[in-house]
Amino acid sequence: MNTLPLFFNLKNKTVLIVGGGDVAYRKATLLAKAGASIVAIAKNFDDEFLAFLEQQSFVAVQKSFDGSDVGSHQPDLIVSATDNHTVNLAVHAAAKQHGVAINVVDTPDLCDFIFPAIVDRSPIVIGVSSNGKAPVLARLIRAKIESSLPSSLGLLAKKAGDFRQTVKDALPSITERRYFWESIFNRALKDEKIAELPDELQNFCQNNQKSGEVYIVGAGAGDPDLLTFKALRLMQQADVVLYDALVSDEILDLCRRDSQKIFVGKKRKDHTKTQDEINELLVHYAKMGLRVLRLKGGDPFVFGRGGEEMLACQQAGVAYQVVSGITAALAAGSYAGIPLTHRGVATSVRFLTGCYQTNEAFDGLKSAYQTDETLVFYMGLHALPKIVASLTASGLPSDLPIAIISNASLPTQTVLTGVLADIVAKKESAAINAPAIIIVGHVVSLYQANAQ
Ligand code: SAH
Repeated sequence: MNTLPLFFNLKNKTVLIVGGGDVAYRKATLLAKAGASIVAIAKNFDDEFLAFLEQQSFVAVQKSFDGSDVGSHQPDLIVSATDNHTVNLAVHAAAKQHGVAINVVDTPDLCDFIFPAIVDRSPIVIGVSSNGKAPVLARLIRAKIESSLPSSLGLLAKKAGDFRQTVKDALPSITERRYFWESIFNRALKDEKIAELPDELQNFCQNNQKSGEVYIVGAGAGDPDLLTFKALRLMQQADVVLYDALVSDEILDLCRRDSQKIFVGKKRKDHTKTQDEINELLVHYAKMGLRVLRLKGGDPFVFGRGGEEMLACQQAGVAYQVVSGITAALAAGSYAGIPLTHRGVATSVRFLTGCYQTNEAFDGLKSAYQTDETLVFYMGLHALPKIVASLTASGLPSDLPIAIISNASLPTQTVLTGVLADIVAKKESAAINAPAIIIVGHVVSLYQANAQ
């Protein structure tokens, strides 16, 4: 971070602006909006700028800048907005001499502070800065934020500020207050109608059930862009997050910042918490009235034990929601460029596991393989020799294509292809890490290295 975004209270502070043209005028209107009192110095002022300064009863001094101007006006901030570099340098030197922070317009090297692109829904103010590296991008981001925020937001924030104490008195617990404000602001952000705040509060107090809720959410295969909007929304609401080893730090960072995060990850052999313990934790926190996010890799109901967690909630009478995620098989297929079904090649897909709950490896298909189907193995990397041996023993041809996609959808994704006869040897000589998906079937011949 090259600069720290601070929000400066300019009410009754003096800002010295050197320059009398368009740029100086724009800075002056912005500073005036924030309540600054302005002293402008320029040899020549544009008429409009001069009229503005007079109308606002600001000081306009028609002269060339010299170093003593800083001492005589004692500004809190200085903006130099002339098109003369020598003058800008002189203003900068005078500012330094008096220890006053300065912005020399469009000259990042001579700036102590910068003007961000601003979204103004006062009292909500958003500043976007690229630290002078890509101002156009900062403006585009500003426009994007601008268009996504309802215009009524500022007024609501102001009313909320005035109503805070009343809410505090009516709802003594912090958690309850947070629920109340979140329910209001979440609806406002979706542009839904908000009643007058006293009515909203009364409604909330009447309907407020103290019981919490469990969100069983799939976080997708790894790329944070694969999260669903719903997953993201619940991630930002949850009070407690129980997350798996497959959930990356990048995704975890998108959860509410002050939520309590508990690692309950399971890796093959190394289970930090048993499934029963996880189920108990989910129910325990929900019964405390908290919103509990169970964040899982891929989809919660595909080899994710989400079903067991759902049943635990049902048995305990705890409310829950299940949110689907992009399961690893789908991400592996699309990110590697291997369609799981393809006209004339594969008409069905089977999702299998290479490792059973009992920790035994895959020991054969439960029903005969069809030549127009695709087999996708989860948790199969370790058991690859066993998988290949049982498939071959069931009569699958030794030249049937097979692919191993590791870290699908992540920057570290790798793809290894071969046929049943040579994949074990190929895997031995290539360094392939878990997690990995194994795809077996003719669709694998559609794979093209470097295609994506
Ligand atoms: N519920 C998850 C699966 C959990 S089981 C889902 O729907 O994706 C764990 C297995 O998922 C791993 O052994 C691996 O086979 C697979 N897996 C998860 N993420 C993966 C990824 N990014 N790339 C490849 N395989 C992955």
